[in-house]
Amino acid sequence: MTTSASAFIKLDEEWGAHNYHPLPVVISEADGASVTDVEGNRYLDFLSGYSALNFGHRHPALIRAAHEQLDRLTLTSRAFHNDQFGLFCRELAQLTGTEMVLTMNTGAEAVESAIKVARKWAYEVKGVPADRAEIIVAAGNFHGRTTTIISFSDDAVAHDNYGPYTPGFITVPFGDADALRDAITSNTAAVLMEPIQGEAGVIVPPAGFWAAARAACDDNNVLLIADEIQSGLARTGKLFALDHEGVRADLYTLGKALGGGIIPVSAVIGRESVLGVLKPGQHGSTFGGYPVACAVGRKVVELLETGEFQQRSTELGSYLHERLNELVGHGVAEVRGRGLWAGVDLDPAGKSGREVSMGLRDNGVLCKETHERTLRFAPPLVITRDEIDQAIEALVKSMG
Ligand SMILES: *Cc1c(COP(=O)(O)O)cnc(C)c1O
Repeated sequence: MTTSASAFIKLDEEWGAHNYHPLPVVISEADGASVTDVEGNRYLDFLSGYSALNFGHRHPALIRAAHEQLDRLTLTSRAFHNDQFGLFCRELAQLTGTEMVLTMNTGAEAVESAIKVARKWAYEVKGVPADRAEIIVAAGNFHGRTTTIISFSDDAVAHDNYGPYTPGFITVPFGDADALRDAITSNTAAVLMEPIQGEAGVIVPPAGFWAAARAACDDNNVLLIADEIQSGLARTGKLFALDHEGVRADLYTLGKALGGGIIPVSAVIGRESVLGVLKPGQHGSTFGGYPVACAVGRKVVELLETGEFQQRSTELGSYLHERLNELVGHGVAEVRGRGLWAGVDLDPAGKSGREVSMGLRDNGVLCKETHERTLRFAPPLVITRDEIDQAIEALVKSMG
């Protein structure tokens, strides 16, 4: 049996496709905000599976819900009803103040589904001529990895050499309300954007952008689709990042934390007048809304209903930002974000993002660079003040 970290890393490199460049750490156990590697070293997890682990690793209530469901019923397919699906849909709709839930598995599938729904709505409700629907997206976007989604990515690494690309997408600068309004035509079906761009480095648009985007959509009968897969479900201190702006979207895409860090669960939620365009057979997924997904998703909804995680993210998030802002001018160039979510631009004169990530690992904190000089801090929302202090101390040491 192989036990040392280097042996596992060698296996990954020999047998796994090389589509990631992981930090050299081999995790074998986790609990709450901490993970343990195969050599027994403990680390604070400041990435949280890109926000899939908002409730921490192995939250007892979520694990219990999954176990109970596994012991009863795992899969029916949607060819039949089951006793979890409808309850999950109702509970998620009531939590989010929406009317309908389309269940899928991964985030990319939720975005794909929202694109399909928006196009269908454009042809059947808005009256856009066949095959002319346009969707406006933002520069620097990240919405997943399918062929259609990477067709409108401007990140060469994600995009290049996968053509021919899906047409029908118009890119405008993120946070520029005038450019967005100018890009709208009579064929515009939707605006699809992240409320705060995650992969781009936790980019918060200027104040007032979202209200202006909402008004532009309203004035032109255009759907606003908020991709809250990373920003949603308490990450920023509210259920949705858009809630900070007092703006409602017509469709929201959810994923990541919706599966409690246990299984992939995603959804498109919205009004019946929009999602209702889908009729039997027109869209689907074998696993979408399967009983295990619904049982875990229902428990996630229950955890969010208490507001406890939103409150933790607000309070500890302001502490995290306060501590990070102390480092501006001392190795850090800029800090952005909201709640327990921060993009930290490193001083160009200092070490690279990768070097600082490696240093953090050596000092017991796991996070990952996004682009050359940006670190993303997104700890599980169960993190404590002391653990934030530990991470800041580790960051100072790693930048030095
Ligand atoms: C992660 C992410 C996705 C894609 O989710 P997958 O589950 O990896 O397919 C889509 N949109 C945003 C904003 C994301 O952060």
